[in-house]
Amino acid sequence: GFSRQGKPLGKGGTMIYLDYAATAPMPRAAADAMYAVLTEQYGNPSAQYPFGLEMKKRLEGWRGIVAAAMGCPPDRLYFTSCGTEGDNWAIRAALWQNRHAGRHIVTTAVEHSAVLECCKWLEKDGYEVTRLLPDGQGNITAGQVLEAVRPDTALVSVMLVNNELGTIFPVGEIAEGLPAKNPKTLLHTDAVQGFLTFSARDLGADLISVSAHKIGGPKGIGALYIGPRIRNPRPLLPGGGQEGGVRAGTEATAQIAGFAKAAELRMDSRLEDQRHLCELKAYAIEKLSAIPDLHFVGNGAAPHILSVSLAGWPSQNIVNDLGSQGVCVSAGSACHQGKPSHVIAALKLPKRTASGVIRLSFGPAVTKADIDACADAIRKHHDSRCPMLL
Ligand code: PLP
Repeated sequence: GFSRQGKPLGKGGTMIYLDYAATAPMPRAAADAMYAVLTEQYGNPSAQYPFGLEMKKRLEGWRGIVAAAMGCPPDRLYFTSCGTEGDNWAIRAALWQNRHAGRHIVTTAVEHSAVLECCKWLEKDGYEVTRLLPDGQGNITAGQVLEAVRPDTALVSVMLVNNELGTIFPVGEIAEGLPAKNPKTLLHTDAVQGFLTFSARDLGADLISVSAHKIGGPKGIGALYIGPRIRNPRPLLPGGGQEGGVRAGTEATAQIAGFAKAAELRMDSRLEDQRHLCELKAYAIEKLSAIPDLHFVGNGAAPHILSVSLAGWPSQNIVNDLGSQGVCVSAGSACHQGKPSHVIAALKLPKRTASGVIRLSFGPAVTKADIDACADAIRKHHDSRCPMLL
């Protein structure tokens, strides 16, 4: 259930949710929009009778809302099944478009797995991938990216906001510098964690992928902006004529309705939310600074993500203990089998620091009292356990 402020409630009604970068709670109005589609507006938008035509009209209305939130014309916005699909489709479409230009890809070592795993498969198909390493704070510079671009570089894929560190990458600057380095190279950005902070028109990337569930929409729906330089986007899923014939499959109308409603609500409160998140992050930094052995990891400028390490205290234990105290945070993007994530590993931190990283991430419903409770829980964990010797 949800409290009246839209905060998710745990079993005892006291859960503190600080994992918005993993997924965000859905506002009631977005869920209601979905319910109406599931129960009453269930027609297929491709059907030719009035009930179907009405759905097509609604679908285009929702597309218009999401496109406005992306800052792009509606006919450049395609719905996908998730951010992961958008990333995979963007990369494949760019490489197809540039199939005669080269088989080299430039990306970073700290992209989401949706990009990194796709690139791994492409290597098996004979593509060459350059993965740029960030500095110790998690930053990548535009100069670093542009320097890696070669005459045979078909694609640059650099995320807008890193999901573990909150570092913001200079996608606009890369877009500006790219034509001088190689006018054919296409630019994709995974903007899943930066949605609602940019306009596709200003950013200058050729392909931009986003996901609904990070902004209060449902899981299982995303969107891809495909710019005019991609002339005939190659479908990832060939089939029926939906989405202009380039992304087949009956449109997920209920998810799209929920996505549009969530985007509309967040657009309305965008500036207020940004201010609130900045204030929360500053407050969290102040509160957490008082905890012994706690270090801040990376200098992420995104206001909704804060990565910290309790050096010597393994992150999975922190996450479990905080969870039992009703506080939800994550161990980076899931600390696999006790090993730091690929993002944390790329920072080359001392082992004790790397193994103790947790990520707090915030959304509009988070309060300073939630931060206080989280800081208390971390301190309690620190004070009640012996550090691990590493
Ligand atoms: N890219 C980034 C940066 C993300 O944070 C996520 C979400 O975890 C994704 C891609 C994948 O999005 P989805 O869960 O919709 O597939």
